[in-house]
Amino acid sequence: MKVPFVSFLPMEHELNDDIHRAFERVFDSSWYIEGKEDEQFETAFAKYLNINYCIGCGTGLDALMLSLKALGIKEGDEVLVPSNTFIATALAVTYSGAKPVFVEPDINTFNINPNEIESKITSHTKAIIIVHLYGQPCDMDPILEIVQKYHLLLVEDCAQAHGATYKNKKVGTFGNAAGFSFYPGKNLGALGDAGAIVTNDKITASKVRALGNYGSDYKYHHIYQGNNSRLDELQAAFLSVKLPHLDRMNKERQRIASRYINEINNPQVILPHVIENVNPVWHIFAIRCAKRDELEKYLNDKGIGTNKHYPIPMHLQKAYSNLNIKKGDLPIAEEISSTELSIPMFYGMTDDQVSYVIKMINSFNK
Ligand SMILES: *Cc1c(COP(=O)(O)O)cnc(C)c1O
Repeated sequence: MKVPFVSFLPMEHELNDDIHRAFERVFDSSWYIEGKEDEQFETAFAKYLNINYCIGCGTGLDALMLSLKALGIKEGDEVLVPSNTFIATALAVTYSGAKPVFVEPDINTFNINPNEIESKITSHTKAIIIVHLYGQPCDMDPILEIVQKYHLLLVEDCAQAHGATYKNKKVGTFGNAAGFSFYPGKNLGALGDAGAIVTNDKITASKVRALGNYGSDYKYHHIYQGNNSRLDELQAAFLSVKLPHLDRMNKERQRIASRYINEINNPQVILPHVIENVNPVWHIFAIRCAKRDELEKYLNDKGIGTNKHYPIPMHLQKAYSNLNIKKGDLPIAEEISSTELSIPMFYGMTDDQVSYVIKMINSFNK
């Protein structure tokens, strides 16, 4: 049997007609950037999250960068970032002019460890970006306590967590602003690059909107040195087709995850720990194994696709050599990158495919 790491086919098959209709509607309108489709999707996504404002933009990276800029983050500031995440989280800080300062995660949840945050706060710390990594919400209560105590700004990176909840409240609604990515592989994905910022604050919303449109508040009137990062009408139209299916498709991921959690019983494999009061959406199902590379090869040989998120931690990437952080300085992030393996997880995975993955993982080294 073959089980790909990810496949969009089951979803594409179901939404085929609606996607084609959306394309025709936009094409027939001859209006491609910032129009009715954007407005409709932004309104629908804000309503879905139960938040006041949603502003579409070009990518998830831009969503985070524009959030930080709109909140006034600038050169000389420090922003706390979890030490294991996709590099976009840190790059958003770099592009705002500030310095990313890495905070170690909890090895069991992969998310930022609230106990590690305070020791990284200095007089320059202005904000913290948390990442609801792999679709699992961060432990918000202790994080919010620290944010209040030190008067920090809070930005949520929700690129992997569309629809996930903490105490029945959707992620993206806890901070001053949140960034979403609609990269095709995300739980809510466009058919190309796309992103959005959400916030409850009117001033932040209008600043973000202007910053993503050449710093312009009305045509050819520029109040900031902005970027060009807007949501295409086509992508907005495709996202409007997919949004009504998001919860149902997330539920399928949850069903697959429960099977993995209940049925994977190889003592060499460590399953992800889910904290109380959360509803994760399993963008990625991450297991850990001391013999990760052997397990990966074993599964690949059996026809099962895998991935690593992420094989080199950010502080050891050449791109961040300027931060002068050495191997051994962030041991938890390093441990995760050398033991983590992502196994197949996508809407439309069949019961047989899930059973096969479980059976093969359980038969490893036995
Ligand atoms: C995908 C992702 C991003 C960036 O999103 P893009 O749309 O690819 O720019 C940021 N943070 C995390 C955690 C991501 O997974």
